Amino acid sequence: MLSAPIESNILKSVCSRSMASKTPVGFIGLGNMGNPMAKNLMKHGYPLIIYDVFPDACKEFQEEVVSSPADVAEKADRIITMLPTSINAVEAYSGTNGILKKVKKGSLLIDSSTIDPSVSKELAKEVEKMGAVFMDAPVSGGVGAARSGNLTFMVGGVEEEFAAAQELLGCMGSNVVYCGAVGNGQAAKICNNMLLAISMIGTAEAMNLGIRLGLDPKLLAKILNMSSGRCWSSDTYNPVPGVMDGVPSANNYQGGFGTTLMAKDLGLAQDSATSTKSPILLGSLAHQIYRMMCAKGYSKKDFSSVFQFLREEENF
Ligand code: NAD
Repeated sequence: MLSAPIESNILKSVCSRSMASKTPVGFIGLGNMGNPMAKNLMKHGYPLIIYDVFPDACKEFQEEVVSSPADVAEKADRIITMLPTSINAVEAYSGTNGILKKVKKGSLLIDSSTIDPSVSKELAKEVEKMGAVFMDAPVSGGVGAARSGNLTFMVGGVEEEFAAAQELLGCMGSNVVYCGAVGNGQAAKICNNMLLAISMIGTAEAMNLGIRLGLDPKLLAKILNMSSGRCWSSDTYNPVPGVMDGVPSANNYQGGFGTTLMAKDLGLAQDSATSTKSPILLGSLAHQIYRMMCAKGYSKKDFSSVFQFLREEENF
């Protein structure tokens, strides 16, 4: 919780910032997700100040490119970060040339990376000490939804700041949901992805079993999708090649949501389960399966390649 004097100071400075609606927005991390998200902000008329540790990631943008997160913070008082892991987020915020080195009072810093909720809380404390505001706003929806501006954002932080965050996040997503205190966005995201991993593995197992029993995979998918086994992994993102068009399984599991990132999110679920003493039996097993896939050459493939992994492992 913010102490009362700090909270009121932050809210005072925030009022002046959120009035300046189309002032430049900082964007750090222009990867698979950050690239289309930044482009959607541009489409809504926001000039950007951008930075990525991998300079090529900024190449296709006409916007102002700077050479560190600190430089972004010097030029923009609203910044979005979209980075792979907790370590990268800490580096971008608290590193030698991190945001916190030059952040302006009253700035709004939104982290959309999927990271450990306890790291989000630590970052929020550091940001608060500088008189600025931090919100965690991880996303669900993948690269396709990032392109079409249909992401779901799960937002944690000071409630009075939600409207200011929503103004930017609404340009990139069709659902922007307030989840409560800082870290709660990450909590919701981690739970969703643990369920997604479990349901994807379950779908891959059921499809493989049906195929072994002699069923046509398209017919089996049709039956599952009109029956109680239906889920997003079966009806929107089926892992079996040839069942659906326009999904990674139709393209040798290229693009989409990488197996490494799924293993990372399951690791976050595992850590959170340990710290809260929550049983996640299937979540732990899913974590081991995705870690094993990374070790066996699947790390760059989409996470639905668990179907291919089962096929290759099935002679045991
Ligand atoms: P990505 O690896 O494609 O992009 C990350 C970008 O961050 C890269 O361009 C990298 O160079 C840059 N970067 C890394 N460290 C940096 C630093 N310290 N400073 C500046 N730039 C830095 O990852 P992504 O697929 O865009 O995913 C980003 C986040 O979104 C992850 O936390 C992921 O779990 C989450 N996510 C991804 C998807 C998806 O489908 N890809 C869906 C939902 C959520």
